Amino acid sequence: MDNRTEIIREVKKVLEFYRELGFKRLPVKLNPDSLMSDVLAPKNQNNEVPYFQVSEAKSDFNLTKEDNNNPDKPPSPPFDKGGLGGFKEQAVNELMKEIGDCKRCRLSGGRKNIVFGTGDPDAKIMFIGEGPGREEDIQAKPFVGDAGTVLTNLIKKMGFQRENVYIANVVKCRPPLNRDPEEDEIASCSPFLVRQIEIIMPRVIVALGRISAHYLTGSKIPITRLRGAFHEFRGIPVMPTFHPAYLLRNPKDKWLTWGDAQKVLEKLK
Ligand code: URA
Repeated sequence: MDNRTEIIREVKKVLEFYRELGFKRLPVKLNPDSLMSDVLAPKNQNNEVPYFQVSEAKSDFNLTKEDNNNPDKPPSPPFDKGGLGGFKEQAVNELMKEIGDCKRCRLSGGRKNIVFGTGDPDAKIMFIGEGPGREEDIQAKPFVGDAGTVLTNLIKKMGFQRENVYIANVVKCRPPLNRDPEEDEIASCSPFLVRQIEIIMPRVIVALGRISAHYLTGSKIPITRLRGAFHEFRGIPVMPTFHPAYLLRNPKDKWLTWGDAQKVLEKLK
């Protein structure tokens, strides 16, 4: 197979994926003479574009002024990326819109903000915690309290910045008094986390703590035994490790989490 055929096959796979997610337009401006224009916007016999309509980068997926004025909504990242990153960013913004002012479970009653997730939608690594705490609820960002400092340090030690990875939680609203999220609350939020993972398609997921590890691996064995070995979530390798809040209380176990992180880095090579 020549190089062009291989590229076309890969591009088609990506386009099919986004079509299944409901996309009808591409966030790219095509040069009609470009190598891929016939693939990205194939014309039918009537000289029409049957699947994907080519549009300018700032397309109908942008949030409205009204959305941006809503203080309960986490700020959406600026649309400044091209290629697959831009595509993923739009898909993430669409998903955020779909969640809207969610009242799908009882956690909505006690939250200040939905903590959707932050970072690079095209990240190689996704960190998934349990649910927002007090500070996260106020700031509408995951892991910004004390446990967040531990996570940020781990991310930096791994050679990344928070902006280069993606951070989310199993539930997007703060459970009252920081209790564990309950089964039905996790079930209500689950379709959104699954879609987030499907859009971001990280190469590795790090499951932070028992709740996240149990959700992502389907196993119920204690985190002390679950951590340190790869599992899978929909074909994506998952490394369960200790929750940063646990590491705050048990700093002597940080080296175990560092060992888990090194396996993750190894996987990315
Ligand atoms: N703990 C979590 O599991 N997630 C957060 O976002 C903050 C603390």
